[in-house]
Formats: sequence, structure tokens, C-alpha cells
Amino acid sequence: MARAIAESPTLRLNEEAQLLRERGQPVVHLGIGEPKNKAPISAILSSAAKLNTGDIKYSPTDGDLSLKKAIIQYTEENYGRVVEPENVIVSSGAKQSIFNLLYAVLNPQDEVIMLAPYWVSYPEMVKMVHGVPVIVTPEDGGLHPRMEDISRAVSSSTKAIIVNSPNNPSGLVFSKEFIAEVVEFCEKKNIYLITDDIYHKLVFDGKKAASCYEFTNRNLEDSRVIVINGISKLYGMTGFRIGWAIAPRKLVQVMTNIQAQTTSCPSVILQAAAEGALTGLQSVVEGLRLMIENNRNIMMQELGSFKGIRVTRPDGTFYCLPDFRAYSINSVELSEFLLRKALVVTVPGKEFGMEGHLRLSYAGSVKDITEGIARIRWALDPDSPNEIYIGDKKMVRDWL
Ligand code: PMP
Repeated sequence: MARAIAESPTLRLNEEAQLLRERGQPVVHLGIGEPKNKAPISAILSSAAKLNTGDIKYSPTDGDLSLKKAIIQYTEENYGRVVEPENVIVSSGAKQSIFNLLYAVLNPQDEVIMLAPYWVSYPEMVKMVHGVPVIVTPEDGGLHPRMEDISRAVSSSTKAIIVNSPNNPSGLVFSKEFIAEVVEFCEKKNIYLITDDIYHKLVFDGKKAASCYEFTNRNLEDSRVIVINGISKLYGMTGFRIGWAIAPRKLVQVMTNIQAQTTSCPSVILQAAAEGALTGLQSVVEGLRLMIENNRNIMMQELGSFKGIRVTRPDGTFYCLPDFRAYSINSVELSEFLLRKALVVTVPGKEFGMEGHLRLSYAGSVKDITEGIARIRWALDPDSPNEIYIGDKKMVRDWL
């Protein structure tokens, strides 16, 4: 029998939204996980130059040395750590690096702690390699993880903890104190600390996401800290599918063996694009960040006029995770309702281990944000006017 991998309500909702769009319905997408920028010119030129050589073959399984050098320089500049090429594995997206890593370190029944709200793929990936996801939810009802909740969940089977800050889906940037505590804890207990830093430069208001390396002076070969990063969010290059992991060399070797038997290597054309992005003008990152910060401000302003919901102001990423429990405790039903009545796509919080919440993205246009939130208010808030234009159709609310 085929393996059961959880069906995602989000995929179902996205397919439904796509069908509506194909039928000409004016759907607003507040579910997107990528900005609407063009790829940096340096990435395009570099991949085009590679393509023009016509010499498109396999690269080393763990990535081309010239890209690794660019990653090493990036790591030195942004993390203050000098690592060796043997500490780097390039994959087809950060997602593949995380999967390789979990496959490499987990034995059946090993536990991996993940902090709710967590990225949807973590529990599924852990289950795919026969591990057990252990979800830790902040007991104070907030969105920021707490060390005391984590320590309570640790058992003799705990193999790894995954930390993702800036966080998808909450947009929270975890405090320096928390990062310091979790690094110290993992190094002491020999638990792998997988730090998914994919949004680490998308931080607002002059703040900075703390890096795990700041809090360990262990040699990388003896450290339990593993850094995951990539070009998807940093440069808005999701379609290029390049990510990487920085880890002790023995672990990189095992991850490389896994990659050798699955995808052989990331595409050389896309590796060239990643190298172009990393070595090109870095002002593109700041431009993207400023655009998203402005969108965050607009999203917060729009949500501010919505009395029933509670939202923690995000310090990073392009998501926020408002609490909609005043309207529904079932986030999948609520997402379906908003799509069918208001033609707005949202992502149910249940997918991230936070029932009663919806993930709203501000990666799209300002118009998407203002229109999307106006439609959600119209659908849910009895204090809002009961008529609205959706596209050129006047809609009357008859369900409140
Ligand atoms: N981690 C998190 C938290 C993400 O949100 C994403 C993308 N949605 C990834 C990893 C995967 O990134 P990539 O596109 O490099 O596979």
C-alpha cells in the first residue's frame, strides 16, 4: 500500500481558488509564500551565461565549489563564522536540505521538537523518515516559544529541535535571550539544533534576528547547531530552488550520500543563478525588505480597524497570524468560508499547529492587502457595512 502523507487543506483551498480564478472570479490571494519581485539581474545574467556555454552537466553532489565559496562568504559576513567547503551542502531548496538532515540524523521513533506555530512541512518530513514530531505550544497562550515548555517536552528520545526565526507563520523574531537559552540547552544535552534561517534578513524596524552561532563557541565540528538558509526568500527567488545547510563535515557527508541517491545534485544552471545573487549587488535584498516592511505596516493598519481579531505585530517574514477565535474556532472551515463568500485565500492556522488562527500574507500588492482585509471584515464583522463590491459585483451580506 502507498504511504499516507497528510493531505493539506491548503493545497485543496489553493486548487479551489485556482478554479475560481479560471472562471474569471476576482480572487485575492493572502496565502502566498513568495514576494512579487523579479529575480536580481545578477542571478539572471549568471545563469544565462552558464546556459550559453552549453556545458550543462552534473555538478559535485554537494554543490559547485564556486557557489560554496559564495555561501562561505555570506556565512562569514552575516554570521561571523568561517566555515570550510566540507561544512556546506547545497540542495534543491532549503526544503531538501532539511529533509536530508532529518533523514541523516533520525532513527525510527526518534523525537524532534518543533515549536508551534511551526512551518507545515516539519512534522510531515519527520514522519516520512519514521521520526516522531513533538509539538510544543507556548503555555502562556502567546506565539513566542518558551524554554520552560521545551524542557518539559524533552525526553531521552529527543534527537533535534527545530527553531525558525523569523517565523513562518507568525512573523515573530525570537528574542536573543531565547535563542541563547536554546543553543546552550542543545549543546549541553547533545541535541541537534536545526535553525531554519530562511527569512533571517527579512526583519523590520531596524531589528536583527539573533543567530545561533552567536551563542556557542564550540568548534563547528563539535557543535550541534545546524544552519539552514537559501535564496528563496532572501532574493525572492523561490523558483530557482537553491538552499543549503551548514553542518559538521561528517554530517554533510551523510547528507551528501542521501542527496546522491535522490537528486544527484542541484541543477548547475540554478546554482549559477544563486551564485550570481549572492555575489551581485546586495541592495536588492534591502529593496525587497523595505517593500515588505511597508506592506507589513499597511496590513497592521488594516487589521487595526478589525475589532474582533487579535494580532501580534510581526517583526519579520511576510506573514502574520491573527487570532480569529472570536469568529470561529475551526480555521479550516473559516478559510473555506472566506474563500467562498469573499473570494479571499487565507491559510488555516491548524496547518501550523495554531487552531483558531489564520495566516495572512503581505507578500502581494498593497491592493491585495487592503481589498483582502476589507472583504474579510465584510464577511465576518457585523459592524462593517453589509454591502461591498467584489470585482464589479455588488454583494450583500445576508448571514450575520
Ligand atoms: N523553511 C521555511 C520556514 C519556509 O517558509 C520555506 C518556504 N516556504 C522553506 C523552509 C523552504 O525554502 P526553499 O524554497 O528554499 O525550499
